[in-house]
Amino acid sequence: MYCEQGSGQPLSNSLLQVELLPEQQQEFARLLETPLPELIAEAAALRDQGHRCITFSPKVFLPLTRLCRDSCGYCTFAQPPQPGRRAYMTLEEVLAVARLGAQQGCSEALFTLGDKPELLYPEAAAELAAMGYSSTLDYVAAAAAAVLAETGLMPHINAGVMGQQDIERLKAVSASQGLMLEGVAPALAAPGGPHWGCPDKEPAARLATIEAAGRARVPYTSGILIGIGESRRERLLALHALRLLQQQHGHIMELIVQNFSNCERVAIALEAPVVAEAESSVG
Ligand code: SF4
Repeated sequence: MYCEQGSGQPLSNSLLQVELLPEQQQEFARLLETPLPELIAEAAALRDQGHRCITFSPKVFLPLTRLCRDSCGYCTFAQPPQPGRRAYMTLEEVLAVARLGAQQGCSEALFTLGDKPELLYPEAAAELAAMGYSSTLDYVAAAAAAVLAETGLMPHINAGVMGQQDIERLKAVSASQGLMLEGVAPALAAPGGPHWGCPDKEPAARLATIEAAGRARVPYTSGILIGIGESRRERLLALHALRLLQQQHGHIMELIVQNFSNCERVAIALEAPVVAEAESSVG
């Protein structure tokens, strides 16, 4: 059980049977007490020790489907089915975008999609069946294979929570995969929280996916969201869980710290103290 010593609050992770060691508790306390300008200076020094070369990868975005069985309160990507509009990009549309990207010098094709929409929306299941696929993961595997074979772009696949077999199947047709851990705070999934009613936002399921990618030796992107109702300590716990997975498998090539944007298109409205706390954490 992953828990803080003495807190009695398990963090629903069947993979990591660990508790914070005394020195880790001390490090957490130090990080929580250090003023932000000092933390920023420390982070900058660490960055300078490790990386002074900034690179980027020109890429095309392929939103294979905007349907999703989850309904995260801050999401601006997912949309419900619309009459007269396809649930999925066709293979021809995918290849047309990828070819244009290749012509413009792109090297990567980023597949973005909702999680398992066919389990919630009959329209999605019917459209997949009409194309000859039984799941969104089947279709993304076929689309990535086509992009790789016909354009040479390297697929990066963000296809949600999945098991080892699907990760290995997608590994065969991609250069890398990704799944944000987002957070481990239990309150996020409570009634009224941003992950209420979102089965794929269970932290243990997401950690299990990231762990399975490590076992499969898939170059991986993950990270956390900040400002969606978690505490600073819970952010550290999420980063600590990712650090443990990285120490075990060495597969996390990119770690994203993404701030929540409280714009008018999102469903949740955060209280002023939450917003102020998040703002104070990013300087
Ligand atoms: S799982 Fe992703 S795509 Fe689906 S609602 Fe949540 S944030 Fe949006």
